[in-house]
Amino acid sequence: MSFSSILGQDKTVKRLRALIESGRVPPAMIFHGAAGTGKFLTALEFAKALNCSHTPHREKPAAPPQPDENDLFAAAAAPAPAPEPEPEPVKLHTDPSDSCGACISCLQALSGAHPDIRIVDTAFQAALLDEDESANLKIDTMRELTRWAQQKPLLSAWKVFIVRDAEALMPAAQNALLKTLEEPPPGTSVILTVSRKTSLLATILSRSCMVEFGLLPRAAMKTILEANGALPEEASALAALGGGSLEKAAEAGTFLKRISALRPGDTARIFKFTAGLPRDSHKAREEVKTLLDLLLAKTRAAWRGSEGSAKDRFTLLLRRTLDLRRMVDRNVSYALLLETALLESERAGLKLEDLVNPV
Ligand SMILES: [Zn+2]
Repeated sequence: MSFSSILGQDKTVKRLRALIESGRVPPAMIFHGAAGTGKFLTALEFAKALNCSHTPHREKPAAPPQPDENDLFAAAAAPAPAPEPEPEPVKLHTDPSDSCGACISCLQALSGAHPDIRIVDTAFQAALLDEDESANLKIDTMRELTRWAQQKPLLSAWKVFIVRDAEALMPAAQNALLKTLEEPPPGTSVILTVSRKTSLLATILSRSCMVEFGLLPRAAMKTILEANGALPEEASALAALGGGSLEKAAEAGTFLKRISALRPGDTARIFKFTAGLPRDSHKAREEVKTLLDLLLAKTRAAWRGSEGSAKDRFTLLLRRTLDLRRMVDRNVSYALLLETALLESERAGLKLEDLVNPV
């Protein structure tokens, strides 16, 4: 793994590599873009490349067996061999702005055990504070981060903190982080990955270098999905449905499975489908958003290909679905919203099964 494993973000990767090469690494960065566009993986690659020593790691050879002190013959016959001089480590001639994958720093980063690369998320927080996983990142976790930031790196030149899905940071936690961003200890870089910039305080935004992640091109999505085990045809369909986000593509994959499990023609299948929404309200809301976006894309396509009274019908449906889409962020029943949208689209001629055929 190196920056070459990040597909579809060429401009952003080029910019990050230039930062590493110049040595002018910002102490605070915000990786901003839609969910499922590679922000976190890129942050990991950045940390790895920044700390790479380009010197392959060799295991020290095992010490020769010591003669048994009680075995007088062996002790007399075998004088202690002089230790062999250690060969000079060979520097790898890899690009200085990318990681080599073979040095001790890269190997530790790959195993997730690098002492100077910390990933801070809600799962990590649960282990740190010895409590159940919470939806928010708390002030105590950011205080710990501040404390670590003050310490010297153990292995590499840089300490990198990756705060994953930073929209989970409560305002008090953001204020606690602010001190590190305002007076960063030398050799420290804090990366916040976030899909909604508005969830961060203006003070955090103004002190951080913004790095934008665009939606992934369909070809890159297809390659990634195939590399993760999808068959070519399935990868094409999911890449189209994902609309530039691997997270949306994965969601679409679960819709496909849920829809194919329903009996065609079953009048209750829309109710059965909406009953399968996640119990977690945040996840249910995101899933309903994705489904309504899919429905809008389908309705637009149907509108373009229709005329006369059918066009009028789809115009009406488009307006109605847009209204329902706007209501998702209000305090509503997501299942009811989805049910209404699906029933209305069926009435206009768009079937539930049509949702998962690529546009
Ligand atoms: Zn390396």
